[in-house]
Amino acid sequence: MTEPTRLTNRQVADILAGVGARLQILDANRFRIIAFQNAAESIRNLAQDINAINAAGELKNIPGVGKGIGDAIHHLLANGSDPEFDALFEQVPQGVVDMMQVPDMGPKKAKRLWEELGIDSVDALRTAAEQGKLRDLKGFGAKSEEKILKGIELLSTRVDERTSIGVARPLALGMIAALKAALPPETIERIEVAGSLRRWKETIGDVDILCVSGQPVLVMEAFRSLPEVAHIAGAGETKSSVVLGNGLQVDLRVVEAKNWGAALQYFTGSKEHNVAVRELALKQGWSLNEYGLTATGSGDAAEGEQRFFAEEADLYAFLGLEWVPPELRENRGEVQAARQHRLPTLVAMGDLQGELHGHTTYSDGTGSVAEMAEAARARGYRYWSVSDHSVGLGIVQGVDADKLRRQRVEIDAYNAHCTEQGIDFRLLQGSEVEILADGALGLSDEVMAGLDVVVASIHSAQRQDRETITARCLKAIYNPHVDILGHPTGRLIGSRPPTEIDMERVLQACRETGTVVEINANPARLDVNDVYARRALELGCKIAINCDAHDVLGMEIAEFGIGTARRGWVTAADVVNTLPLDAMLACLKDVQAKDD
Ligand SMILES: [Zn+2]
Ligand SMILES: [Zn+2]
Repeated sequence: MTEPTRLTNRQVADILAGVGARLQILDANRFRIIAFQNAAESIRNLAQDINAINAAGELKNIPGVGKGIGDAIHHLLANGSDPEFDALFEQVPQGVVDMMQVPDMGPKKAKRLWEELGIDSVDALRTAAEQGKLRDLKGFGAKSEEKILKGIELLSTRVDERTSIGVARPLALGMIAALKAALPPETIERIEVAGSLRRWKETIGDVDILCVSGQPVLVMEAFRSLPEVAHIAGAGETKSSVVLGNGLQVDLRVVEAKNWGAALQYFTGSKEHNVAVRELALKQGWSLNEYGLTATGSGDAAEGEQRFFAEEADLYAFLGLEWVPPELRENRGEVQAARQHRLPTLVAMGDLQGELHGHTTYSDGTGSVAEMAEAARARGYRYWSVSDHSVGLGIVQGVDADKLRRQRVEIDAYNAHCTEQGIDFRLLQGSEVEILADGALGLSDEVMAGLDVVVASIHSAQRQDRETITARCLKAIYNPHVDILGHPTGRLIGSRPPTEIDMERVLQACRETGTVVEINANPARLDVNDVYARRALELGCKIAINCDAHDVLGMEIAEFGIGTARRGWVTAADVVNTLPLDAMLACLKDVQAKDD
C-alpha cells in the first residue's frame, strides 16, 4: 500500500483558510466562511499531528471542526486532495486571495478588481494602481490607489515566521508536563524553558528546553515520542530537535547538574546580553561558555582553571553581578545596573489587585456581569471594571447611556451582595469608549462623568496618516474623563501592523494629563510593548495591565501582560492596578466627578 503525501497541520490549515477566503470572495454563506476560518485557526495552533488525530478518528473533536469539515479533512488527508476544494481553488486564483491581504482591501474590493478589471495578483494590482487604472472603477479614486500602493508596501515588509508567545508558551509547558508524566519519577531532576520564551519575548523562533537527568538517553527517547512531535530533526544522546505539527521547532538538551547555572544562562540569551556578560568575564580573566568559566591566565587564577555553577545566580554573583531577571536580558542597560546593584524589583503576577478593562454580554463579551465578577474574584482580585464597548464601533453593538443605566443596576446589585456577604470585592462601571475617526468619543462627557473608569481606544480608521491619528488620539487623552488609553498602537502581532501613531507625543500627553497607559495583556496585542512601556516610565507615566477579557477564561492571560511589563522594567509601583481600590481610584483623572 502506498501512502499518500502526508500533509502537515500548517498545510491543512492553509488549505482550509484558502477555502474560507475563496468563499468570502464568492460571497458565500457567512457561517460557512466562519466555519472554515475557525477550523483553519484551530488546526494551525494544534500541537498534535493532524494525521494522528485522523487515524484515531477524532477529527471532529478538534475545537472548531464539525462533522462536515471533519469529513472533508479526512478526505484531504487520505487522498492528498478534495474535489470540492480543488474546484474552488481553480475558480478563484490564489493571486486574488493574496490581494485580500493588502490592508484596506477586503473580499468585496478584491472581487470587483478581479471581475471588472481582470486584476488577479498583487503585482498586477500594483501596476494598475501605479498607472492610475483603478480610478476607472466606480468607488475608486486617486486616493484609494495611493492607499493600495502603501498597503502593498506594508505587506511586503511583513515577514514573520516566528510563533506568538501565546501559542508557544502553553505548547512548551505542555510538552514539559507530558515528558515528566511519561518518565519514572525523579528521572528528571530539573527542567526549564530557556531562550526567548524564558525572556517572555512576544514572538518565539525556536523553543529551547534544558534539563538535568542521570538518564539522558531515556529522556531523549521520551521527548521524541511525544504526541505533539510531527517530525524529528535531530536525535542525539543529549540533544534532540523536533518539529511540532504547527511548524514550531523544539530543542531539548540534557546537561549535568554542575553545569546547570552556566547552561541556563547561556541558552536563555539574548545573544546581546551574553556578549556583554562574556566581555565582563574576560576583563576579570575568565572565558565563559555553556559549561562554566575557564581562567584565561590574565587574572589571579591559573590558566585553565575551571569554575562550575549549579545555580545561575551564583554565576552572576561570581562576576560581581546581581542576578538578572531573564526578561531584562536584552543588553538594554541591565548589565551595568546589575553591577551597580540597582536592578528594579519587577512587577509580578501576585501584585495585581484587579483589572480595569474587560467586557461582558453588554457588548461583545460572552460572560455576564456576575460571571465575569466571579472569574475576577476567583483570581483573588479585589476589583474589576466592566468596560464594554461604547457605541461607535460599527461591527460590535456597543453600550449607550440607556444600556449603561441598566448595567449600573446590575453592578450595584452585585456589589450590594458582596457587602452583605462581607466579601472584599468591588465591581466598577467603566466603558471602553471608542475614539472616533475625528477624535470625538463614543459617549458624551456627561455619561463618562458618571463612570468609575474610562478606557479610550481606537478600533476603526486605523490607516489614518501619522498626523491625523496622533491628533485624534491626543484629543481623547486631553478629555478630562478619559482615564486610560487602551491598546495604544492597535497592532495585532503577525497580522496587523501598528498604526502610524506618534507614540512619543502620545506618551508625553499621557504624562501631562495623568492618563494611564495600558499594557494590553492579550498575547496577540501586547500593546503597548516592552519598549514603549519603558519609555512611558522614563517620561513618568502610570501603567495599567489589563487582560481585556471577553470571557470567563480571558483573565488567564494576565501573565503575558506581566511578562511584557517586566521586559519594560516596570515595577509594581508603576502600575495603578497593583494598588488597593481607593488608592487606585485616586490615581485616575476626574476624581471630583467620581466623588459626587
Ligand atoms: Zn479594544
Ligand atoms: Zn476591550
